[in-house]
Amino acid sequence: MANEIVNKEQLHKLFLAGMPLKEIANQLNSKPGSIRTMIYHERQRNPHEWPHRIQYPGKPKEQPLMMHSYECTDCATRFAVEDYDDIDHSVTVCPICRSDQHLQDGSYGRFIATSVSRRAE
Ligand SMILES: [Zn+2]
Repeated sequence: MANEIVNKEQLHKLFLAGMPLKEIANQLNSKPGSIRTMIYHERQRNPHEWPHRIQYPGKPKEQPLMMHSYECTDCATRFAVEDYDDIDHSVTVCPICRSDQHLQDGSYGRFIATSVSRRAE
């Protein structure tokens, strides 16, 4: 445990600078787990000096899209079209059949891009 001694001033400085625990650990020659524990204990003592850092790892920045979905009963294709006031849905056709003969109205609502994957802590 001798090499687990960490300069708390340095730790505090890096912590407030928003450096990830992993990098702080590297910098101070310690382990992320130890750093986390230390911050936890310091926070118990001085909650105001160790504010919680808010992280939104997977929060999508994109605005939700209004979409209207359709299903083509001929080729069993489901697709969605952006749904705004100025979009003429009467011209919507199946992207496979190029026809609106077998189109059925599906649901509509908000779609949010989920391509930003969440990283497990
Ligand atoms: Zn079709």
